[in-house]
Amino acid sequence: MDNNSRIFKSNIIFTSTKETFDIYKNSYIAVENGKVRGIYEKIDANLEKIPIFDYTDKLIIPSFVDLHFHVPQFPNRGLGLDKELLPWLEKYIFPEEGKYNDIEYAEKVYRKLIYELWKVGTTRVSLFSSIHKESTELLFDLFIKSGLGAYIGKVNMNRNTPDYILEDTKTSIRETEEIILKYKNKSDIVKTIITPRFVPTCTSELLKGLGDLSIKYNIPVQSHLSENTNEIEWVKELEPEFKDYASVYNEFSLFGQTKTIIYLVE
Ligand SMILES: [Zn+2]
Repeated sequence: MDNNSRIFKSNIIFTSTKETFDIYKNSYIAVENGKVRGIYEKIDANLEKIPIFDYTDKLIIPSFVDLHFHVPQFPNRGLGLDKELLPWLEKYIFPEEGKYNDIEYAEKVYRKLIYELWKVGTTRVSLFSSIHKESTELLFDLFIKSGLGAYIGKVNMNRNTPDYILEDTKTSIRETEEIILKYKNKSDIVKTIITPRFVPTCTSELLKGLGDLSIKYNIPVQSHLSENTNEIEWVKELEPEFKDYASVYNEFSLFGQTKTIIYLVE
């Protein structure tokens, strides 16, 4: 064990697999270099010299992981549930996303978000930022400082979205690549994820450029798929040559060719 080792005494709940729920009463969890080495009922000779932090009668549980989080929807949470997906985006979400070209506004929201994640015990999160490069880079910097882990994606959109959050195709691809290069070696736990919002707001040319970046740098992808029947119909109209919605992502190497997180409503 190294100098960074710690032992925490407490009641511990641990889910070693999806199906199991292990309870260790009054036990010891040993942590080495930020990783759990093991859980022990008693301290043996191997562990004797390591400092013990005593949380007897408390509970230690694994932290939460949030696989889908839109940062600009944080100030809107719980609001506007009177609309379906597409009108909801237009009325409530896009106007909020437009505000993130103002880096001071963005910073206020980001700081509150990071504090709130800490408070509720979410230590890993996959984030959709907005189309704005400068704000997205600030989000990276704040997460790296915070100690929380995140995948962070600059959102890409070059059609069917209001002018104030509409990107030029080449700029969108270039800025995404600049962020990949800037942050690829800055942190082991804060990393880039390629983030086309969804097919209705991304042309084939944009999707191809993003898929190529994903393959070139081995960067994972996140997006949305078939959340709503109107959206599915719209994709059929926009991309009639594809047999279904998923095939559009698949054609451009955005559907499991690297790792992919897709938000899908059953
Ligand atoms: Zn989403």
